Amino acid sequence: MRFTVLTLFPGLIRPWLSESLLKRAQERGLIRVEVVDLRGFGLGRHRTVDDTPYGGGAGMVIRPDVAVAALESVLPADEVVLLSPAGEPFTQKVAEELATREHLVLVSGRYEGFDARVEAYATRILSIGDYVLMGGEVAALAILEATARLLPGVIGDPESHRQDSFVRGLLDYPHYTRPPEFRGMRVPEVLLSGNHQEVALWRRKEALCRTLSLRPELLRQARIGALEALWLAELDREG
Ligand code: SAM
Repeated sequence: MRFTVLTLFPGLIRPWLSESLLKRAQERGLIRVEVVDLRGFGLGRHRTVDDTPYGGGAGMVIRPDVAVAALESVLPADEVVLLSPAGEPFTQKVAEELATREHLVLVSGRYEGFDARVEAYATRILSIGDYVLMGGEVAALAILEATARLLPGVIGDPESHRQDSFVRGLLDYPHYTRPPEFRGMRVPEVLLSGNHQEVALWRRKEALCRTLSLRPELLRQARIGALEALWLAELDREG
């Protein structure tokens, strides 16, 4: 899959891509990432990319002619994502959709963001959360990473996708490793029992309990089985 990140700060993106699993995915040809400097499309001797807002007010706005020239230089793409706190929330489900694309372009803003006319060139506008970052680089990297890890071969064990938080609409179950006791906290006995069926049941119930306690709103849309429904009714009765 091909990713293109448009940014005014390519130096913020490149180091992230040169380590760990994303580096390996590029080396193995599973993903290709290009970072395009918006400044290269700036106007005049100073490569100006922004201007003051019509109607007055604080901050600068990225010019549409600059942003669209940069964008058009990397087309065709089957998905052009404009990053904005005002966008649709980025979720695991959206990551799964993006992972089916061939070429994903992530357009990262700065200052007060882009002139609103740039939105006409995006296939979707995405936000990584209800807070305002200084720029879209962290958002672009979050989306790139969440999408890339769904592609075949990018992470070691494809089985681990299936248990991830949000995949079935529930949070992941808690994980433990050695030592069996740490500062008085013991690993649950069932995990040491060697009984795989019991372990699987325990994990299903823990995933449900965690979701109920930390993110109860997720349960409204979760794909839960009959056993989970029974446990939920029990937990409800216990109050
Ligand atoms: N004035 C804008 C607003 O309040 O909606 C905020 C602009 S923000 C300082 C500059 C850029 O950071 C945005 O154009 C966007 O690309 C990026 N950005 C900031 N927060 C973001 C978020 N939660 N999700 C995605 N992108 C974000």
